[in-house]
Amino acid sequence: MSKDYYKILGVEKNANQEDIKKGFRKLAHQHHPDKKSGDEAKFKEINEAYQTLSDPKKRAQYDQFGSDFGQYSQPSGSSGFEGFSGFNGGFNINMDDLGDILSDFGDSFGFSNRGGGGQRGRASRGRDIQVVLSIDFIEAVFGVEKEISLKKTIKCTRCKGEGMEPGTTVITCKTCNGSGHIVKVQRTIFGNMQVQMTCGDCGGEGKTFKEKCTACHGIGIVNELVNFKVKIPAGINNNETIRLSGNGEAGAKNGQPGDLYLKIRVNPDRRFERDGVNIKSQVKISFSQAALGGKIEVITVDGLVDLKIPEGTQSGRVFILRNKGVSHLNSHYRGDHLVEVIVKTPTNLNRKQKEVLKEFGL
Ligand SMILES: [Zn+2]
Ligand SMILES: [Zn+2]
Repeated sequence: MSKDYYKILGVEKNANQEDIKKGFRKLAHQHHPDKKSGDEAKFKEINEAYQTLSDPKKRAQYDQFGSDFGQYSQPSGSSGFEGFSGFNGGFNINMDDLGDILSDFGDSFGFSNRGGGGQRGRASRGRDIQVVLSIDFIEAVFGVEKEISLKKTIKCTRCKGEGMEPGTTVITCKTCNGSGHIVKVQRTIFGNMQVQMTCGDCGGEGKTFKEKCTACHGIGIVNELVNFKVKIPAGINNNETIRLSGNGEAGAKNGQPGDLYLKIRVNPDRRFERDGVNIKSQVKISFSQAALGGKIEVITVDGLVDLKIPEGTQSGRVFILRNKGVSHLNSHYRGDHLVEVIVKTPTNLNRKQKEVLKEFGL
């Protein structure tokens, strides 16, 4: 049965791309499976609707033929991936949208990816991967190199990504007799329609191998645990994302690799508070230090720094320690450290101390 994608996204038939995007975001937030109120089936349906309506070509096709048409004109690649269970069932979400949605789910959405999938025979772009990486406050201030361990697809070394068992020969595809496509009859409201599809066995190339590579089952990629080092630049802030182009999953049949998105989570530090490139902290001083002035030590990200307290300092006064803040991204210029001084009002004064204070009218 044909689904009403417009209704699913809660938009009008004549909605523009912006409305469609808005409708999708709102509902995707609402029904995301990682949420308590989430509903996976609903989320998939919303995503399916969005994938169609956000693409002008698919939308035009849908407007004309309904949702069933798409399933025939674009055969699902998942069936071609027997024995390959690494990243299936992934939602097919545009990365722009994913970023927004992810920011709402935090660590619960530790790992995700967008899928291009792809037919067995054809080269396809590898999926993008999103990883949440936690770093410490100080590491964010000065930058850090982190080792990342990630399970992802890489190019099969046995067949060099071609999918062909070494030493075997190329033959004409039996499924499509070398034409690269097959014709299926589809029942629609207009009657039976002949739909031409790309051959799933050869990916439209008309040729296949006598024997598929035994290491990758002919896909040209294998799933492996990969370790690599990543440089996190000084000045990165919580929830910022680093894109590592080409570090996502390898593409089937030597297709272009996807990208890796590192979403940075900065662990809080109880000594400091970040405010853009500035760092804020509080320091307590005694009543007499405030009244008479003096020198105190303040902890900064560079270590202890002397701070001169002038006579008559009021509680809540903020002192600025220049260049003790966070680096601006990709520059040596640093922000400041702002120290708020809190004056401790004395308690448990003895009689003599009380008399002295009274004398001064304090
Ligand atoms: Zn292989
Ligand atoms: Zn074929």
